[in-house]
Amino acid sequence: MTLHQLPTGTYVTRAAFAFRGGKFRDKRDFASTAVLVQHPEGDLLIDAGFSSEVADHIKLLPRFVQSPFTQRGTVDEQLTAAGYDRSRLQGVVVTHSHWDHVSGVSDLSLPIWMNEGELQYAAKDSDGKVFREISPGHRIRHYDFPGPAYLGFPSSYDVYGDGSVVIALAGGHTTGSVIVFVTLPTGNRYAFIGDLAWQLDALRLRVDRPLMLRLLADTDPKLVRQGLLRMLALTDRMQIVPSHDVSAYDGIPLLTAH
Ligand SMILES: [Zn+2]
Repeated sequence: MTLHQLPTGTYVTRAAFAFRGGKFRDKRDFASTAVLVQHPEGDLLIDAGFSSEVADHIKLLPRFVQSPFTQRGTVDEQLTAAGYDRSRLQGVVVTHSHWDHVSGVSDLSLPIWMNEGELQYAAKDSDGKVFREISPGHRIRHYDFPGPAYLGFPSSYDVYGDGSVVIALAGGHTTGSVIVFVTLPTGNRYAFIGDLAWQLDALRLRVDRPLMLRLLADTDPKLVRQGLLRMLALTDRMQIVPSHDVSAYDGIPLLTAH
């Protein structure tokens, strides 16, 4: 079992908008990175990064959130360049349905793994526009959380039944936003927390998003705070990866041809 990062690009956001106390002049490059989990029983992507059509996807967003972006290879291109065997891929688990996590799905013919809460959110919310654009033609693989509480989160889904990939419902950022916990045979552990926090600074400084952004970006800011506190308690036990922090992926190798 292995883990790779597939960085597809970045977009510019001011730190003042990213976490409480961030400076307006401090610009941050927000990562849009997919993660490939290779498992003997079949592989999964966690989120899908930017697609070849990302410029069109950004145009679907409200003006005030459209920002300059830099593109690297898409997930589709990186898989091809590495000579990766696509028959192994079972689907894309999305941490949530926002544009910067699902755009890349449009290049891939793979099922999208989603829970009911997120499907309902994506079907109705104005922030589900890009998802509604890219999802037709993709099979939706519904999953639920039949498993017990996991690391403080009330319910979980153990994807392979061996504890290596466990999806926990976090909610709060969107209705069905999830955390994907990965444990490698080496003992290294990772928590892909989606947008529970946007930057590692939020965890280091123990702060949440600025008030205006919490109200704008989160469906339930209190639940986000609760999730963040749960993750803070786990910082010594695993590498916590907020989706948009470039350095949060440090140590996770890139996918290369072998
Ligand atoms: Zn995001």
